[in-house]
Amino acid sequence: MTTRTPRTTTSPGATTPGPAVRLGIDIGGTKTAAAVFDERDTILARATAATPAAAGAAAVVAGVLDLAARVLAEPAAAGTVLTAIGVGTAGVVAPDGRTIAAATEALPGWAGTPLAALLEDTLGAPASLLGDVQAFLAGELTAGAALGARGAVAVMAGTGIGGAIAVEGAVVRGSRGAAGHVGHVPVAAAEGHRCPCGAWGHVEAVASGPAMTALLRREPAHAGVRDLRAVAAAAADGDASARSALRRGGGALGAALAGVVNTLDPDVVVLSGGVLDAGPWYEDALRAELAARALPLLRGTRVVRAALGADAVLLGAVSRAAAG
Ligand SMILES: [Zn+2]
Repeated sequence: MTTRTPRTTTSPGATTPGPAVRLGIDIGGTKTAAAVFDERDTILARATAATPAAAGAAAVVAGVLDLAARVLAEPAAAGTVLTAIGVGTAGVVAPDGRTIAAATEALPGWAGTPLAALLEDTLGAPASLLGDVQAFLAGELTAGAALGARGAVAVMAGTGIGGAIAVEGAVVRGSRGAAGHVGHVPVAAAEGHRCPCGAWGHVEAVASGPAMTALLRREPAHAGVRDLRAVAAAAADGDASARSALRRGGGALGAALAGVVNTLDPDVVVLSGGVLDAGPWYEDALRAELAARALPLLRGTRVVRAALGADAVLLGAVSRAAAG
């Protein structure tokens, strides 16, 4: 890794410190994003790059540092003082918010990376890490679909099923950092199906995009279906099997979410992820099953779509970093 000069904290010749900014970083298996936020949560500068996941953790960290240097060097960030770094990352973050506790094959070697210390050493500001879906929920709580909520459940349904929970207005990390893994709730509809985590019967095994695609592909007439987009196209054309696969996945996730709602009694459930774009069948079934299985008192729990898009992770990461 190259040696970097610590960033100056004031503009050249300035006698007083410049305005305070925070750096948000979103590390995913395919891309990494960084943004500089001012004190009112406005993004002053942003940049995105591919994540060199296959090259290992050191390469991913080097990529993050390059991206951070690039975004902090933008004219809009000139003369500012970096006061905090917030990261939302794929994988499970240890409860102290300093290191990666576990990760999937999407980021080989990521587990064990002392990411907060590495960022602090180079960038000279305190860093705090959250899981990416935990950061996503923190963002939606700060300025999105869960604004003002005390209790919230977030689910991100796409290639996998990610989740996060908030209690008393704060995202819960859990005693090992893994709180909110909604995708790994066992449901009856997933009986006999193996989850990517290795266990059997978890909702992710039937409700993720790849899982629904694989289930549809078992039918000879659909053996050529390659991805969720093809499933969605078939469903839109009136294909009963494709609609059924989407309804089954959405219904299974609704059942899992009913269990979470019955446990936490949240104000709101926030939905996001690519499966929601596959037509109405998934979300309709999710809502119906959640309502059917929620306790009578909890049936009115609001279920809403996320409001912030991809910026939710960045905003949530910095809002959490500012909160300490
Ligand atoms: Zn699982």
